[in-house]
Amino acid sequence: MTEQELQRHMESVSLQFFQKRFRHQARFNSRLRTTGGRYLLKSHVIEMNPRYLENFGLEYFIGIMKHELCHYHLHLAGKGYQHRDADFRELLAKVDAPRFCQAIPTTQKMHRYVCLSCQTEFLRKRRFDVKKYRCGRCNGRLAYMEEKIVNG
Ligand SMILES: [Zn+2]
Ligand SMILES: [Zn+2]
Repeated sequence: MTEQELQRHMESVSLQFFQKRFRHQARFNSRLRTTGGRYLLKSHVIEMNPRYLENFGLEYFIGIMKHELCHYHLHLAGKGYQHRDADFRELLAKVDAPRFCQAIPTTQKMHRYVCLSCQTEFLRKRRFDVKKYRCGRCNGRLAYMEEKIVNG
C-alpha cells in the first residue's frame, strides 16, 4: 500500500463508518513500535504502522484506522477523545473498532539461519545471501531455515 492509497483508505473508512470526511493527512510511520497507529493532536495527522498491515492484514489494519478516526473525529468535535472518555468508548463500540491501539503486541518478520557446523541459530531482520556470509562463531557455512514472526 502506498501512502496515497493509505490516504484514500482513510477517507473512505471515515465516510463509511463515521459519515464524516477525513480532511487531514494520513501517513505511514514505520518507527512506531508498540502501537498500530496514532493521532497527532496538533496537526490532526493520523500515522499508521505499516508493519501491522504486513503482519495482520488489511481487515485488522482497517480496525486500527477506525480506532484512530474515533480519536480524530471526537477531538475535532470538541468531545471526549481519550481512551477513558465515555464519548470515546461509545463511538468505538458503534463503529466496532478495537479498544486499545497500544496493547497490540509488536510483531516482526525475521529470518532464521543456522550454522551447519556449530548449529548456532541466528535471527536477522533482512534476508541475506548465505554464500556471502559465514558463522560469526566458527566461520562455518550458514543455511537459511525459515521466515518467522517474532513478538517483541
Ligand atoms: Zn487510541
Ligand atoms: Zn558456527
